[in-house]
This record gives sequence, structure tokens and C-alpha cells, in this order.
Amino acid sequence: MQIQAVVYYLVQNKEKGFRLMETLNTIADPNFSIILPGPCNANCAFCFWKRDENENAEISNYMLKLDALLSKLPKQFTQVSLTGGEPTISKHLPSVLNVLRDHRKQFNKVVLTTNLVRPITLRKDERIQEFVRQFSGVVDYVNVSIHHNVTETNKKILRVKDGNITPDTEMLKKFINKMNIIGIPVNANCVLTNNLVHDWLEGAARWIFLKSSIDDYITEIKRLGFSSISFRKPHTKDSGLEPHPAEVAFQNRKVVMESKCPVCVAKTQIIDGMYVTWKRSVAEPSDSMPDLIYELVYHPDETLAADWSKNIIVEV
Ligand code: SF4
Repeated sequence: MQIQAVVYYLVQNKEKGFRLMETLNTIADPNFSIILPGPCNANCAFCFWKRDENENAEISNYMLKLDALLSKLPKQFTQVSLTGGEPTISKHLPSVLNVLRDHRKQFNKVVLTTNLVRPITLRKDERIQEFVRQFSGVVDYVNVSIHHNVTETNKKILRVKDGNITPDTEMLKKFINKMNIIGIPVNANCVLTNNLVHDWLEGAARWIFLKSSIDDYITEIKRLGFSSISFRKPHTKDSGLEPHPAEVAFQNRKVVMESKCPVCVAKTQIIDGMYVTWKRSVAEPSDSMPDLIYELVYHPDETLAADWSKNIIVEV
């Protein structure tokens, strides 16, 4: 597009929240998120991504558009995140992975996030073999959402829907082992709900209790073979960037890495021999910094936006 046309376009559309992909002003390592079409088999109370179960059951140009988009993605986008709904139950996952495979060289990291909840009709071994086939050579890193070290409590937090099974310790061990064999580290993603860190506001004795809940979680996750852990403060409209009390309880541990951006903080420590990252971010980055793009999101309805709420639409 000619420079004058770009300037004209921007002046005309800025008020409406439109941007042109070729003129994006981004943070240093922006993320490219692909939200796979399809529902989730869980219903977490803290999920900020509520949507219609049948959204985009049938899609037409999703793959073609994704392919075209990846060809034009600015060079600073070197990390791709695959998410949902629950990406592993999306019937479009194999095609999305194939499209990504064709563009693999342009990215440093492709990350897939899953709760590993599976339909009751699928045996665990069958399921794991399917993942090995699909992820090989395209996914670099898997995040498993596991919000409590006890399977039954994790199931309650995920509010797993009927007809589905929460991963048990045997499934998790087998999955991690197979992923590690094909060179994929597995990270445990844990949202700090009150089921894990309850009653921390009620005095010093409770702080000890809080710390020991986290210690138990880390011990179990390490035993299962996970490579690392990410604890995330729940997103609420005003959750802000203050550390969660659980993070504060471990503040005397050495920090090995800390990334700061205007909308999110990630601090990594080594606790009990595990890399543990504490993450906190504002609920919707585009509300706090509309002129600086934090990520691009490819939505199931084929919209490209600079956020999950589609406040800022990006034209290619
Ligand atoms: S598993 Fe993820 S997408 Fe599904 S309900 Fe929970 S937070 Fe939302």
C-alpha cells in the first residue's frame, strides 16, 4: 500500500479502533495467538473467554486466511500460541497444525495450551499417540492447565462437562513422557484459585498454610515429570499488576528471570529444583495501551484483532 494511502487509512480509522498490520507498533516480543474454532469441555469459573458452544461449527475460509496471514505477519512475531476453547477437541486442530508446519521456520516457538480433558470415548493411550503424531515437528512447548495437585479437585475447578474425563496422574505421566521423547517440554499452568490457596487473608498461621499448599503442588508436579510451572493470578477487571500473596510468600527465593512490560509481569524463580514463574497481567492489554500492540489474535470467525475482545481490528 502507498504511504499516503496508509496515512489516510490510519487517520480515517484510528477512532474506530482499526489498525493496519504493516504499521503496527508492538512491544518487543509480541505474541500471535490462534483461537481454534470450537467449544471447551470445561467451564472454569475464572475463564474470561465465555462463548457460544456451537460457535463456528462450520467454517469456510479459516485455513486459507490463516495461511495468507502467516505469510504477511511482521517479523517481530516469533512466537505462536494455540488456544481455544479446548484446542485438542477442535476438529480443526490437525489442519491448523499443518498450516503452521508450512510456516514453521519463521517462528522461534509454537506453544499449545490444553487442559488434557478428553471425551470419555477416547482411551488415554490412543489419545496420547494422536498427540504425538499431530505435535511432532510443529509444537515446541505444551502448557497443561492443572489447577490443583489432587485430580478430583482439579476436576472441580475445571468444572469438567459430562461425557469427559479429567487427566489422572497416570495419563499425565504418560503424556509428559511421550512429549519429552519427541523433544517437547511440558509446563504446568496453574491459576491461583482459593481451592489451592484458601484463607490466605486471615493471619500469619494461614500464610504458612498457603505456602505449604504451594509446596505440595510443586512436589507433585515435579514427581509427575513436568519441566516447569507457571502460577497465574486470576484475571478480573481490576486484578492489576500487584503480586498475588502466594508469590509474596516465596519472595526470599532468588529470581532468575524477570520480564516486565506495561501490561504483564513474569518472574521466574527456582523452587525445590523447579523453574517456577509467577505471572500477573491486566485483564485486557488493549484497554491499557491502545497504541502499543501486545499481541495479535486470530479469532474463530476469521477476524484478526489486537486483543481478545476485538476492540482493535487489524486489517491485513
Ligand atoms: S479450560 Fe480454559 S478455555 Fe476452558 S473453561 Fe477453563 S479457562 Fe476457559
